Amino acid sequence: MFEKSRSLLSRAQRVIPGGVNSPVRAFKSVGGTPPFITHAKGPHMWDVDGNQYIDFVLTWGPAIIGHADASVVEKCQAAMARGSSFGAPTEIEIELAEMVVERVPGVDVLRLVSSGTEACMSAVRLARGATDREKIIKFKGCYHGHADCFLIAAGSGALTLGHPNSPGVTKGTAKDTLLASFNDLESVEALFKANEGEVAAIIVEPICGNTGCIPPADGFLEGLKKLCKQYGGLLIFDEVMTGFRVGKGGAAQLYDVTPDIFCFGKVIGGGFPLAAYGGREDLMRQIAPDGPIYQAGTLSGNPVAVTAGIETLNRMDENAYAQLDASGAYLEKGMAEIINRRGLPLSQTRVGSMFGLFFTDEKILRHEDVSACDLGKFNTFFHGMLKEGVYYAPSQYEAGFLSLQHTNEILDQVIEKADGVLGNIFG
Ligand SMILES: *Cc1c(COP(=O)(O)O)cnc(C)c1O
Repeated sequence: MFEKSRSLLSRAQRVIPGGVNSPVRAFKSVGGTPPFITHAKGPHMWDVDGNQYIDFVLTWGPAIIGHADASVVEKCQAAMARGSSFGAPTEIEIELAEMVVERVPGVDVLRLVSSGTEACMSAVRLARGATDREKIIKFKGCYHGHADCFLIAAGSGALTLGHPNSPGVTKGTAKDTLLASFNDLESVEALFKANEGEVAAIIVEPICGNTGCIPPADGFLEGLKKLCKQYGGLLIFDEVMTGFRVGKGGAAQLYDVTPDIFCFGKVIGGGFPLAAYGGREDLMRQIAPDGPIYQAGTLSGNPVAVTAGIETLNRMDENAYAQLDASGAYLEKGMAEIINRRGLPLSQTRVGSMFGLFFTDEKILRHEDVSACDLGKFNTFFHGMLKEGVYYAPSQYEAGFLSLQHTNEILDQVIEKADGVLGNIFG
């Protein structure tokens, strides 16, 4: 079923680390061969061996209106014909920035960049520059891209200094990243207390989507905001995954907590390399050339990417979010029926069209709860579903996504296949 992919993988491995250009694509945690993709349309993807998949990865979220949408394709082709990059300002960049400002309460001014990593590292530089403080607090299991300051694992105790979890990250960088526990305000306050006057910002995924899909507990995000006020750090919401995914105004609007700085990516670029950071006017005016905090990019605001972003956001009105939420609820209900009928030790999480299916019956509040899942059974489920033509993310630590093209008929197919695969796993 994967012969051609297998041969492409060995060819790729000779010239690309792991044969892939981003590690999770190599299927290391689930094993096996990643299908090499030829094309995608709507809710489906096809691989070089001719297999068709219902796609729950959606290029890790961006394909929210479905793959290769006809009007995105048409508009981007036209944009490309006008020139794919100028290194000079264009009118459409204003249009996209205005759309974000209009949609997201709390974003007054924003800067377009090319990746979520770039958005998050720029947001941290802004917070440090604006507060004249150096430390940041991040949460175990939250991912903010691969900038040095984010690649930090916990020390043995919550108050010990973090140490790098990638060679190449200096000890100097590691000591400025403090690690807290998601949905645990006490762990955050302890860090603030132990580092009084030194914390520039808390950076958090308001819904932790890089450890499955973990919604914030009641009061968690408000609590972070309060602690920032009390101890004088800024609050950064990394909405690279949740922005324009869980609602028009992202997670900030959904949970009614406004951070000082937002990071966006994924959906905002409609499948192209485009991201952004923005927030309060007095902060964003400190970015060059308005202010002294430097940040730049040759391809920032790329006209083809901006065109895809505008067209994608234009389609995501209130009705579209209502449809996605209904689809999410439909899938959740169908899976719950299987779980209950078969009495399976599985649990689900969901915020709109972003979901998690965990191989445990314990409540999922943070990274450790996901580590405690039956990862072996997850892997068997993953491969079983892949063989049946359903492409879940290749790790228990990743969220699933729906698009506007995932109709109930498509979801019915998934539910039926999942029933069979789960039946085989649990007997
Ligand atoms: C994907 C992601 C990033 C990194 O974005 P890239 O475009 O891959 O650099 C950062 N933060 C969150 C929450 C993400 O999901």
